[in-house]
Amino acid sequence: MSSWSIRGDPGVPEPPPCALWSVQAPFGPRGEDERDSPEQFFEDMVRAGRFIGDQNIVEVVAFTACDRILDLERYGVKFKKHDDGRFYQTPMPGQTYPRSCFMFENGQHMSTVLAKEVSKHSNIKQFKDFFVFSLLKSQGTVVGLIGMDMITGNIAVINAKSTVLAAGGYASLWGFSDNPPTLIGDGIAMAYRVGAELVDLEFNQYYGTDVVWPPSVKGTIVIYELMIEDFINGEITDKDGNPIIEKPLPIRDDAIKTIYNVIKEGRGTEHGGVYFDTTKSPKSEEEIRDVFKMMTPKHYQFIADAAGIDAANQRLEVAPASHYQCGGVFINERGETNVKSLYACGEVAGNFQGANRLAGSALCDTQTMGARTGGCAADDAVKSDLIPIEKTVVDQQMDTLNNFMTDKKDGTRPVFIKEEILKAMDTYVAPFRDEKGLNQALSRINSLKDDLTRISVPKIKRYNMELREALETSFALDAAEATIGSCLFRTESRGHHNRTEFSETDNANWQCHTIAKQKDGKPVYSKRDVIYTHLKPDD
Ligand SMILES: Cc1cc2nc3c(=O)[nH]c(=O)nc-3n(C[C@H](O)[C@H](O)[C@H](O)COP(=O)(O)OP(=O)(O)OC[C@H]3O[C@@H](n4cnc5c(N)ncnc54)[C@H](O)[C@@H]3O)c2cc1C
Repeated sequence: MSSWSIRGDPGVPEPPPCALWSVQAPFGPRGEDERDSPEQFFEDMVRAGRFIGDQNIVEVVAFTACDRILDLERYGVKFKKHDDGRFYQTPMPGQTYPRSCFMFENGQHMSTVLAKEVSKHSNIKQFKDFFVFSLLKSQGTVVGLIGMDMITGNIAVINAKSTVLAAGGYASLWGFSDNPPTLIGDGIAMAYRVGAELVDLEFNQYYGTDVVWPPSVKGTIVIYELMIEDFINGEITDKDGNPIIEKPLPIRDDAIKTIYNVIKEGRGTEHGGVYFDTTKSPKSEEEIRDVFKMMTPKHYQFIADAAGIDAANQRLEVAPASHYQCGGVFINERGETNVKSLYACGEVAGNFQGANRLAGSALCDTQTMGARTGGCAADDAVKSDLIPIEKTVVDQQMDTLNNFMTDKKDGTRPVFIKEEILKAMDTYVAPFRDEKGLNQALSRINSLKDDLTRISVPKIKRYNMELREALETSFALDAAEATIGSCLFRTESRGHHNRTEFSETDNANWQCHTIAKQKDGKPVYSKRDVIYTHLKPDD
């Protein structure tokens, strides 16, 4: 059987290269602590997700993690090991036992090794620098996709028995983010447009400590978890140097709330952040520098080179930034969506992290559910017939492209609309949000949707980056609309979703998923029960 693998974004870094060292796997006696087990990993993930993750999927992640990490090692990814061959694993908040395997050269290394592994398989045809702009549906089934080769400008249609969406999250729908700028909603919008259910979009994870100043390094992630006693053991402080986060460090959603509230109360730094202060550590400057150089050497060096700040002896101004989308396309434990022959995995998929995620669980998910989903999609493809793509479906997509490339008297460029979307998300869909602000955001998004028809981009073939930006802008508008609607729908606070007028967690009414599904061009919201296989909320 032949497969196609598609990678987009020429020249744009992707999250795995951004990702750091941490991949969770419960190696137990083969790792740092013999007491660790898949059962414990499962429980840690379920609790951190505030009981909103579907446990049939969390099971796949927790119980297959070790095998998939061993796959990575076999492909050539280098992990730090003890002399006796056990995995070196770092403790991170929310892990009962140290569980984060340490990957040398971070996510970049992992990406390179995986790409090399793919290229060894002659039955996988790779499309690089290829921008997908729609999934295609016939007879109620996803039958492939349409996209544009960015280098030649040629349009290609791929007819497939199974289509796996692995387009990543959309944390860059917010302006202050540590994600690559192109991750603004393509994946979920394409799925949504063919009838896929989206789940728990209100749980966009903010990361507490991204550099907010100076501008040359703004948005660079500084690992909050490095503040644990085993590593740097410094402090996150307010503007006056008072520590604001107690040890042991809380998990991410709790940390965010504290940092955000300190800033809101006026105890933040000049540029709207808090301090990541290594000078408060009992450790020596050399010891601290060694931690940075081992754990995040590139980030440490970048901040030193671009801003002249040595984080080993100077404090950094940091603030919460959009980092990861816990929600996404609704899937089951085989990676199937509710639309026939469409599968989803990785950050684009939802309903397993729940309301919050732990460090090292995202890359673990890409390897575990990624492998499971790919396997199921391939098995199903062998058993099914190829449904042809209807010409009218392709024509519709070509009309959209051509409309963007038509000269217009009152034409506008996509970048201006995109900037307004990001501004609305930053202003009104921050970690703490309320009905009034969310409604303002929604009406802004709706008026920007009207502006889409005015987009006019050059009619050029090769590297038409503005055409791509126009398509991305329209995805971003759908992603924003469904996200804001999900935030409005969930009238409680939990995990990364904090409604100021509903500040308590309301288990009686909201221990459930929120689903957004398109009907007559608009999102419709509903609740769905969470799947509990082993651990109930009151266990
Ligand atoms: C700074 C940073 C540090 C992180 N560190 C860690 C860590 O240490 N441990 C951990 O577990 N997680 C970490 N994460 C999270 C983790 O990196 C991501 O969740 C994970 O990489 C997502 O993988 P993915 O394959 O689902 O999506 P991605 O890696 O985002 O890949 C999606 C791919 O789809 C392509 N694509 C998107 N739209 C289109 C389109 N329209 N046409 C064609 N192609 C398209 C993109 O170009 C990209 O290649 C980190 C994230 C960031 C931003």
